[in-house]
Amino acid sequence: MRREVVRPDGSGTHFSTPFGIESWMCVSQCDISYYSALGATLFILSIRGFLMINRSSILVLGLSAVSVLGTASTPDRSTCNSWLAACHYTAANREADYNINRVVIHKTEGATAGGAASWFTNCSSGGSAHFVYEKSNGYCYQCVLEHNIAWHAGYSSTNNNSVGIEHSGWTANDDSSTAMYDQSAGETASCVTYYAVPNNRSYIIGHSEVPGCSGYGGGVNCHTDPGPYWNWGYYMTKTGGGGGGGTLPTYTLDAPTDSGSWALSSSATDKFGADYKYHSTAAASDPASWAAAVTAGTYNVYAWWSVGTNRSTTAPYILPNNVTVQKNQQVSGGSWQLLGSVALSGTATTKLSIWTTTGYIVIADAVRYAP
Ligand SMILES: [Zn+2]
Repeated sequence: MRREVVRPDGSGTHFSTPFGIESWMCVSQCDISYYSALGATLFILSIRGFLMINRSSILVLGLSAVSVLGTASTPDRSTCNSWLAACHYTAANREADYNINRVVIHKTEGATAGGAASWFTNCSSGGSAHFVYEKSNGYCYQCVLEHNIAWHAGYSSTNNNSVGIEHSGWTANDDSSTAMYDQSAGETASCVTYYAVPNNRSYIIGHSEVPGCSGYGGGVNCHTDPGPYWNWGYYMTKTGGGGGGGTLPTYTLDAPTDSGSWALSSSATDKFGADYKYHSTAAASDPASWAAAVTAGTYNVYAWWSVGTNRSTTAPYILPNNVTVQKNQQVSGGSWQLLGSVALSGTATTKLSIWTTTGYIVIADAVRYAP
């Protein structure tokens, strides 16, 4: 575990010391996020009092309360600069209860990201977003944890399945800096990695492309952001995605079937969903299988496992096209890892074999087919 980010609330003062150590002074409250080595938020420590904080120490000058605000099972971006908790959001346990399969891009119609993030803390605002980026320099505020649902799209099913990113500035103006695009696209790229959001414009969309408007898009209030000046070409280059995209669905398969010899566990904290299965490696054919009836098309096939030193470094996944891909399950757990791109049709079955170097276990947690 490591303390990665200090997030002062609006009462805090952000300054640099003469020694060049970035520090914060909080007069009433500081929220400090603690992250695992995998980037998952473990908990948020909220300290009320008068404090000075830098990346290696906390100096408490006067203390009135210490509390743990909450935990998160999702990998909120650890490089976001500030945490300003929004008043409005829907508590959830994504992705156990809702898939995250979209990122929605907004502009705030306001001058500063700090102003928008502060407005979200006001319960008169009626809305929120997970992140707000400053147009001039890419400074980031996080307002809603990714496992919760932010109120940004004006269309509930899109809210349920998306991460919402606001950017200061106006839809009618060409006012976004390269630094802002780069920081925001980094967040979107992390959603591609951790949630397998398809990296194309069918799933990384503008607010103007959200359903719900009787005309075309923009949610029920027909918003038009981010507007004609938003540089999608550059943005998608920075997320690593391409143009185009398709309308194929995403299939998340979290319950592998097996012969009955695999054991069930829920103890690993970086698992997907409620549990996973495991089996000792052996020179035998006794795979776990994930199967789904799919709409025909080309999909990226991903696997999710929980890491551990007893895992196989050559876990043999057998793709629906019978190609075997070995993965090291001692690393890269707790997120979707690409196995390959495969043309799927009918019932598409991915298997995890136990037939590899003995003395280890293999973890059958979840598989995803995403276009
Ligand atoms: Zn919007």
